[in-house]
Amino acid sequence: MSETTTEPQLGTPNGHAPAVEAPPASRAPVRWEYAPAPESTDHVRLHDRYGLFIGGEFVEPAEGRYAPTINPATEEPLAEVAQASAADVERAVAAARAAQGPWAALPGIERGKYVFRIARLIQERARELAVVETLDGGKPIKESRDVDVPLAAAHFFYYAGWADKLEYGIPGPPTPGAITPRGVVGQVVPWNFPLLMAAWKLAPALATGNTAILKPADTTPLTALLLAEILQEAELPDGVVSILPGDGSAGAALVRAEGIDKIAFTGSTAVGRDIQAALAGRDVGLTLELGGKSANIVFEDAALDQAVEGIVQGIFFNQGHVCCAGSRLLVQESVAEDVVERLWARMQKLRVGDPLDKNTDVGAINSAAQLSRIGELVAAGVEEGAGLRQVSCALPARGYWFAPALFTEASPAHRISREEIFGPVLAITTFRTHAEAVEKANNSNYGLAAGIWTDKGSKAFEVAAQLQAGVVWQNTYNHFDPTAAFGGFKESGFGREGGAAGLRPYVRQGA
Ligand code: NAP
Ligand code: MG
Repeated sequence: MSETTTEPQLGTPNGHAPAVEAPPASRAPVRWEYAPAPESTDHVRLHDRYGLFIGGEFVEPAEGRYAPTINPATEEPLAEVAQASAADVERAVAAARAAQGPWAALPGIERGKYVFRIARLIQERARELAVVETLDGGKPIKESRDVDVPLAAAHFFYYAGWADKLEYGIPGPPTPGAITPRGVVGQVVPWNFPLLMAAWKLAPALATGNTAILKPADTTPLTALLLAEILQEAELPDGVVSILPGDGSAGAALVRAEGIDKIAFTGSTAVGRDIQAALAGRDVGLTLELGGKSANIVFEDAALDQAVEGIVQGIFFNQGHVCCAGSRLLVQESVAEDVVERLWARMQKLRVGDPLDKNTDVGAINSAAQLSRIGELVAAGVEEGAGLRQVSCALPARGYWFAPALFTEASPAHRISREEIFGPVLAITTFRTHAEAVEKANNSNYGLAAGIWTDKGSKAFEVAAQLQAGVVWQNTYNHFDPTAAFGGFKESGFGREGGAAGLRPYVRQGA
């Protein structure tokens, strides 16, 4: 609590302020401190070991390999998790193949009931899922509680509603039965939004009558395994979904497996390229949701305090481990100094530390490997001559941490402006005219998202139309909704997830 206190100036009951003397000018202002507010973990019961989820049950991995998943905030192991190999992939494909016909043959309204049930069970277990997401991946509890888990449920709710209305969501030949599922789909997801990415993948696949095999990321398999328990509870028919934790080799085996009809991948551009090459010449549908280096553009007529909040939300949300992070700030020269100073003042107030504390804004970096990648790129930025400012704050002794940072004078040629840092580091540059803003924003190999801050709607629409980005936010950032399509251009990938557009990659039309 406060170190120095002053008496609050209360009005009298009749509303008139009491006649009091003005406080002495020397009196120090109230300084409010945060008390620790840790979320309880009492309701979470993790098993010591998790198997693979194949054919509706947890099974031993073929090669008998298990690996620990750790809490990146403490470096303590949380559980041992089975590691899938090619033989397990084969087994899961066989189970998915056997389940697919009957699953697709269910009337849409019946399939939809299962998907609704999954959504409701996620809501029922929301507290547990949020805590486990935070323990396994390091993200602040307020984000897993208020964003990841509710949005994961929302995706299942949303696509459940489509299951019996597909012909309205997927415009095409009007003949009933002309929309057919792809079949067996393989889905590989990254570690930054583990449960949410699983929901983005599974919900549309199930609604459209596909069966699915999901490979969660190496460092964050636990919420996908809790989701497997939820699928059992929902009595989803065996084999409709299999979950195969493991490392990159399990993902590579899944992508190359015989009998797969579609791959949906979210992850890095490098792995996306590898997958595209592996599937060349095969009749396997592919969607790639890859990296980004998104521009957040602040015009001089923007509400600057609001824009500063949006800049913070754009780059420090989830420690910057966000594919569509607003990692390049483009600010109009006339207000640049003002914006940077307000931003810097705001950054001092970010609370970095224990992800389980409900007041934490910036949690732990997901892994040692990611921390060293951030460190390498920041060192390159300093080397190349950009101006680094990093918040100075106490960080826990154990775990992986990186204090929020910004670079001024980040030139478009610098690595920090071109490469995805995937951490809490912002590269700032200025522009003078609209045309220059658009040119700089589009000067990237990526094309995932962008933000525009202006008081004028017409300007926002005009600029948005010129940006090569799959998503453009106006006077907000990192806002997600299951009804809205998400996806990229250029090296950010292709295909859309979310909304009615997200149904299309999971069906064949007019067959
Ligand atoms: P990553 O290395 O590409 O990993 C993504 C997933 O692919 C993980 O499950 C990974 O397994 C697996 N994998 C690794 N090598 C593979 C291979 N050769 N074949 C098949 N699968 C393989 O990416 P990451 O570092 O985990 O995630 C960060 C990246 O994801 C960033 O670039 C970010 O922009 C991107 N991302 C994009 C979106 C989007 O919607 N566009 C969303 C989130 C993240 P392991 O974990 O075991 O290595
Ligand atoms: Mg972990």
